Formats: sequence, structure tokens, C-alpha cells
Amino acid sequence: MTKFEEGLKKDEFVCSECLTCKKLVWPPNNFCNRCFGDVKWRPVSRCGKLVEFSKKDETVFCIAEFENEIRIMGSLKCSCVPVIGQSLKLVKCSHNESEEFVFQLLI
Ligand SMILES: [Zn+2]
Repeated sequence: MTKFEEGLKKDEFVCSECLTCKKLVWPPNNFCNRCFGDVKWRPVSRCGKLVEFSKKDETVFCIAEFENEIRIMGSLKCSCVPVIGQSLKLVKCSHNESEEFVFQLLI
């Protein structure tokens, strides 16, 4: 289990950041995927934006982007019709069989 997955279990959204080139390493890893440098783990901003969504019955699935780097798929809580580019917040993350993310649109 990676630090990323351990974080998710505690509802913490963390990612690795390269100490050399200062870029977020995504997907998270123990070394940088550009320069193979060492990384540190840090919390990611939980405020992002909506990139894409699709509706299936009453559930809305979406792709959300954080810190202009990280794209994650999850479910979206919304009472109105989502608009691409709209701000959203990561309200819950967890890790059971797989990664789970729940987002909520900000009005
Ligand atoms: Zn690097």
C-alpha cells in the first residue's frame, strides 16, 4: 500500500512532490517520474474544478482537476446541472477495494 492509499483511508488527499523539480508527481510515486529525484509527501488542495461529467441514472460521475496537475475520477454530488470548469471540493476520499472520491460542486 502506498502513502497515497494510506492517506485515502484516513480521508487525507496527499501527493508526492519532487524535491528537485518541485513538480507534483502524478500518479503518486516514491520518486519523480521526470528526473527520478526524491519526493516529499504533502496534502493536495481539496478545491478543484470540473473537467468532465456523465450522468447515469441518479449518479453523476466526473473527472476533477486539482492544482492544474492531478485528474481524478469520482462521483459528484449536485442538485443542479453541472457546468464544465465549475469549482468543486473534494468532500470525501477513501480506499477500500479501490480508490473512492466524492466531490461536491461549489456555488
Ligand atoms: Zn523531479
